[in-house]
Amino acid sequence: MIKLITNSHIINQTILLRLDLNVPTYENKILSDFRIVKSIPTIRYLLNNNNKIIILSHFGRPKEGLKDPSLSLENISNYLAKKLNKKIIFYDDWIDGVDFLDADIVMCENVRFQNGEKANSPALSEKMSRLADIYVFDAFGVSHRKESSTYGISDYLDSYAGLLLEEEVKNAQSLLADSKPPLTTIISGAKISTKLSLIKKLINKSENIIIGGGILNTFLLAMGFNVGNSLIEKKFIPEAKEIIDSEYFSKIVMPIDVVTSDNIDFLNPNTKEISMVQSKDKILDIGAHTINRYIEVINKSKSIFWNGPLGYVEKKPYDNGTIKLSQAIADSDTFSIVGGGDTIPIIESLRIQNNFTCLSTGGGSLLKFIEGKDLPILSKLGVYNK
Ligand code: ADP
Ligand code: MG
Repeated sequence: MIKLITNSHIINQTILLRLDLNVPTYENKILSDFRIVKSIPTIRYLLNNNNKIIILSHFGRPKEGLKDPSLSLENISNYLAKKLNKKIIFYDDWIDGVDFLDADIVMCENVRFQNGEKANSPALSEKMSRLADIYVFDAFGVSHRKESSTYGISDYLDSYAGLLLEEEVKNAQSLLADSKPPLTTIISGAKISTKLSLIKKLINKSENIIIGGGILNTFLLAMGFNVGNSLIEKKFIPEAKEIIDSEYFSKIVMPIDVVTSDNIDFLNPNTKEISMVQSKDKILDIGAHTINRYIEVINKSKSIFWNGPLGYVEKKPYDNGTIKLSQAIADSDTFSIVGGGDTIPIIESLRIQNNFTCLSTGGGSLLKFIEGKDLPILSKLGVYNK
């Protein structure tokens, strides 16, 4: 049984709340507030029970112990305060203690500025634990990481799961246990290396596998196609070949055409059949015939699991495949779970986020959970106990 805040009568306590407020930004502007918004129910629940909250989060990947001002959480703290309509006191230096003054919420500067955070230093975990009475973990996006603020603290404080964690775990478990066939798994994005074990896990359960991005390029190369200058991972050709030669290969929905560019600035997009790619071309998206074939498969599915964009979405028009598939899934009435930091902002920008069963705040953590790996803090919080 998962140890939930909602079953635990946590009242009048000081809570150390680990959130994942690592949102995409550009020049200080928040591009997607999805993770911030998803963190609010737990904050409100704890406040309604007269608790005081100290929020911990990471932001970006600063060098160990280095205070990089461009990776400050202050801006995100201000944004959250506005969303909550509550005062939040922001502390640059917090490890030796904080004062709530007239507020109920304190936000600490980027926890990765602390020496020892990434290494899960017991000394740092113990020091953090002295700030509060209780630890609440609600940062599903980093539940696969064993760091001081995502794991170590739970050795020193009574620890509970927040509402977002509960929701994420339920959704991921229901994908594994109750998803109705046919299940279509869409695995795409930059690197096959980060997603190969997921493909292997889900290929068995799925009726259809759609691949895109660098993963598709590596498969096409393994099948003997010319992929020109495209993003690939040579090292993984043998593993791709193994799948191609297996009984599972028939589950992979083959693309028909791709969008390429032979220009260093990715100008002059061309749509070509997969067998027509030239050595100077880069494959940057799936083509219109492929999109139609994939949409047909989506429309025949009862469940969909999707991770990773199908093209070089940072530049138009190579976001077209990802947009078209998002719209098709949103228009269908299938059970759909989407994870991964690079797909959700696109779904949000299309304003169709409510047409999915679940958009997950997890990327790597969701993949690991679905692969069946025990995530350290989730073990501690009793997620895997019957
Ligand atoms: P997520 O974070 O959603 O799991 P990934 O990080 O694995 O996704 O992949 C996203 C990245 O993959 C994006 O930056 C996108 O531009 C890139 N990408 C996808 N397809 C291609 C392609 N054909 N060529 C180059 N980059 C690609
Ligand atoms: Mg990514």
